[in-house]
Amino acid sequence: MEGTSKKLSVYDLSKTDSGLLQSKELYQYILNTSVYPNEAEVLKDLRQATASHPGHVMLSAADEGPLMSLLLKLVNAQKTIEIGVYTGYSLLITALSLPKDGKVIAIDPNRSYFELGLPFFKRAEVEHKVEYIESMALPVLDKLLEDRKNEGSFDYAFVDADKSNYTNYHERLMKLVKVGGIILYDNTLWSGTVAWEDDSSLDEQMVHLRAIFIDLNKKLASDSRIQISQLPVGDGLTMCMRLC
Ligand code: SAM
Ligand code: CA
Repeated sequence: MEGTSKKLSVYDLSKTDSGLLQSKELYQYILNTSVYPNEAEVLKDLRQATASHPGHVMLSAADEGPLMSLLLKLVNAQKTIEIGVYTGYSLLITALSLPKDGKVIAIDPNRSYFELGLPFFKRAEVEHKVEYIESMALPVLDKLLEDRKNEGSFDYAFVDADKSNYTNYHERLMKLVKVGGIILYDNTLWSGTVAWEDDSSLDEQMVHLRAIFIDLNKKLASDSRIQISQLPVGDGLTMCMRLC
């Protein structure tokens, strides 16, 4: 695309109904066969309520939900952390997957988004599992690290917030999450643009974020402290297990 052609924004690239698979039929098949039939009614209702919110482009993809829920159960997660809540779709998945006495520290500077989601947590009777902290995440993580008891005490972390801080979050989460614990980073394939040879059709914000994810993906792949798997679900989810 050259000259005055419109550059692609995050809104253009998120409009796809074919996901990263680039096949509408296959993506819909996955959603209709294994995702939607097993999605709790309350989650479905929150997803639908969020779909008409002005920021709906931020909503986590439904096909990530079953994987996150399974991981939480596989690691017997009790103490977890979520960075970037929005209306709480992924947070509700976590809260529903945790045991009765499980906890999730949820951090987001814009609590107003969560007002939309909160009634769904009450309806699901999982509100007590959520400690919502209205703040930028970095100072909260630093504060947690001031207490030695928090080191290596988290079973699971999900990061879906300001992309430019992912590497900063990673260093802190590597201290907070236990050996054998899981850290998930969302949007790491950035609509598939990380593999594009040419970014000239993208708008400035997309170019910037694409570069951030290319850099992050290299860093995570060469970090010997973790074992990773790059999953092509949603917008790309990188699963990391802390090894040491
Ligand atoms: N996980 C959510 C879901 O399932 O719908 C979507 C999260 S949305 C993509 C990103 C969120 O990150 C927004 O709600 C935004 O307010 C939040 N955010 C932005 N900067 C942040 C920061 N510095 N620390 C924590 N959250 C931040
Ligand atoms: Ca996301």
